[in-house]
Amino acid sequence: MRVILAQPRGFCAGVERAIEIVEKAIEKYGPPIYVRHEIVHNRHVVERLRAKGAVFIDDLAAIPKGSVTIFSAHGVSSAVEDEAATRDLPVIDATCPLVSKVHNEGQRYANQDREIILVGHEGHPEIEGTMGRINGKVHLISTAAEVASLDVANPARLAYITQTTLSVDDTRAVIEALRARFPGIVGPDTKDICYATQNRQRAVRELALMADVVLVVGAANSSNSNRLREIAAEQGIAAYLIADADALEPKWLDGVRTVGITAGASAPEELVQQLIERLRQFGTVELEPLPGITENVRFRMPTELADA
Ligand code: SF4
Repeated sequence: MRVILAQPRGFCAGVERAIEIVEKAIEKYGPPIYVRHEIVHNRHVVERLRAKGAVFIDDLAAIPKGSVTIFSAHGVSSAVEDEAATRDLPVIDATCPLVSKVHNEGQRYANQDREIILVGHEGHPEIEGTMGRINGKVHLISTAAEVASLDVANPARLAYITQTTLSVDDTRAVIEALRARFPGIVGPDTKDICYATQNRQRAVRELALMADVVLVVGAANSSNSNRLREIAAEQGIAAYLIADADALEPKWLDGVRTVGITAGASAPEELVQQLIERLRQFGTVELEPLPGITENVRFRMPTELADA
């Protein structure tokens, strides 16, 4: 069996930074350290950090007063930030700087008296955070079809921003529909979709052209991982999103000569290696990593941990 590995795959700089923040906070302040929401969307990462002393909660009210609290890589609304201040929680913010950039961009447009069209998926924590960061009217849409029913106060004063982990192609279609209906709208094109999402999508598209089946290692609630599976499937082959090697169904390999593997931005490389090991149980594996690009992005630690 030929097994081709996409490059890049797995952890992005925002996820690496968020995990490091939790680890360094535990080292510096000692356990327990409270983390609002899953620090990143991956059960294996969450369980490993839990074993070291992280406590994951969704409601700040559950955190004892004065306890060190970390906001996840997805970002939070201003209301959550205010609640943390009211409850005297010393906060370390692990929001990915590329998510913060979108927050700032949205507020800058709102300050120009523009209504904001936010392209993203309802219910995703990043979207809840972004919507709750912008002081002004925000309309959430996820498809080009929804543009027709948007009800805005002044079509000449509009801006759009997008979630960081969307499909580049789908988002371009939404932006085209927005520009067609509102020619005066301003926005960043697809540049809000982060470098890691764009690179992994380009790599999985290339991978899907060479494979009979694509396996995407990632969590079911990981937006960027779901997009990778969809992009592979759009190339006309079977594509599955799996949490880990145990989730592999042997029947997916029937008649398959070439398996493509990639991983979402919050999936650790060890899960990819475990999947390769599992594939070896079905026969000899000939491993072939694609050349792809090497990412050198690193984000600075928050000031609270700069010395840790
Ligand atoms: S996927 Fe992109 S926006 Fe999200 S944490 Fe990684 S680098 Fe940041």
